Amino acid sequence: MKDCNCIFCKIANGEIPSSTVYEDEDFRAILDLGPASRGHTLILPKNHYADICEADPGIAGKLFPLAGRIGAAMKAVLGASGFNVVQNNGASAGQTVFHLHVHIIPRYDGGPRMVSWEPGEEKPEVLAETAARIKGVL
Ligand code: AMP
Ligand code: ZN
Repeated sequence: MKDCNCIFCKIANGEIPSSTVYEDEDFRAILDLGPASRGHTLILPKNHYADICEADPGIAGKLFPLAGRIGAAMKAVLGASGFNVVQNNGASAGQTVFHLHVHIIPRYDGGPRMVSWEPGEEKPEVLAETAARIKGVL
């Protein structure tokens, strides 16, 4: 399942060179060309899925453990004190490359504010109605 017009398919399968930090039969993890911080890494499945909704559950299930391993490596060798795991689905969510990928963004003490939002407020009845709508289709 490759998409010959997809740049991340080409990178994941080694047709385009990349700064690879990890590779196995299912994934290649590379440094982001436009890093949010030093060491910003992308995990790319070798098969093409547009986003997490399309992904094979077995592949999706391996992403979180791998993200944790890479984040721990960033803390061990880059001096990161934490990391964010970010995964965008859809243009409205900021996805710009429509091949499933997970960002691991190392964070450094005193570094810039990023991957954050302003907490809002919601009425209990709206929370209940929203939860019921989502629960109803799961
Ligand atoms: P997203 O906005 O979640 O779709 O993230 C796409 C990410 O891919 C961005 O952080 C880009 O900087 C990164 N990116 C795009 N093209 C390349 C490339 N050829 N090699 C490495 N990273 C890339
Ligand atoms: Zn692809």
